[in-house]
Amino acid sequence: MAAQEFMNVLVLSHYNPDGDALGASIAWARVLEGMGHSVMCVVPNKFPYFLDWMPGIERIRIFTEHGDEIRAAAAEADLVCCLDFNNISRLEGLSEAIEANTKAQKLLIDHHLDPPEGYFDLVFSYPHASSTSYIVFKLIVELVGVEAIDRDMATDLYVGMMTDTGNFSYSYLTPDLFRVVATLVERGIDIPDINRRVYNSYSEGRVRLLSYALGPKMEVLAKGQAALISLKESELRRFKFRQGDSEGFVNYPLSIEGVKMSALFLQNHRFIRVSLRSRGDVDVNDFARRYFDGGGHRNAAGGKSTDTMEITIERFRAAVKEYFQ
Ligand code: 5GP
Ligand code: MN
Repeated sequence: MAAQEFMNVLVLSHYNPDGDALGASIAWARVLEGMGHSVMCVVPNKFPYFLDWMPGIERIRIFTEHGDEIRAAAAEADLVCCLDFNNISRLEGLSEAIEANTKAQKLLIDHHLDPPEGYFDLVFSYPHASSTSYIVFKLIVELVGVEAIDRDMATDLYVGMMTDTGNFSYSYLTPDLFRVVATLVERGIDIPDINRRVYNSYSEGRVRLLSYALGPKMEVLAKGQAALISLKESELRRFKFRQGDSEGFVNYPLSIEGVKMSALFLQNHRFIRVSLRSRGDVDVNDFARRYFDGGGHRNAAGGKSTDTMEITIERFRAAVKEYFQ
């Protein structure tokens, strides 16, 4: 890959972009621009409102809002960088625009399992990395040195590392991750301020929706080993739902002792988004692939269902029964 020549670059991340998708994308785009390339950062749909303060977020182009402009840029791109996903289907409607350009080289920077063979020209795939932002940090240090990371970039990378690890509480919390965080602190990040902006800036509707989701809508199944929450579009409307309001809901049932798998079914106008979380050896990546046309990591995965909510829940019950029998 001729990295030094001028290139039109597209930096892409996944549907329902999260803190890691955004933080890694913005930081990577800035590094490429620093090398003299022209870069556009694109995500398939809107990001959650509680991330709209991230430094550089205004440069993120949203396919559902700027389709024509993005299609044109995709056709011109010399290089397409895919960050925080490894399967083109996670671009939803944007994937066609990307597939239409057959001349662009493709670069993968990601931490999901099983990257497809032969699809990318250059692959940085580390399923044991806790976030893509962590991988991007390591690449930046190798490519251009830690001095390239200013306070804004450090903040973006920290948001990615913090959100993907559940505020440093999930897996792959290596000593090196904390060394990297120490470096980000040296680069000037304000951790209490970032925490407040991400975790304490929700709407009233979100907090009330959480109470409804955990009260009337949570079901515990399989003798206390699994739980589900389902929210239909009409229910979401009652709570003035905004993209991102259900972020984190799926984790709560896992705080019940004995619950090893938790599912959230969230309906939109096209399909039902499935979010799965698990503890220990319960493999929801496998579960999502098998039953919900999805995938992810062992303890955090997702997928979708085009059935009705009732049928989706029935399918889940049957699958759980089989799994925990
Ligand atoms: P979330 O529940 O937060 O939407 O997704 C959790 C994780 O599951 C994501 O980090 C991603 O790895 C994975 N994931 C979510 N939805 C899908 C999907 O439709 N397909 C695949 N392959 N992975 C998904
Ligand atoms: Mn990630």
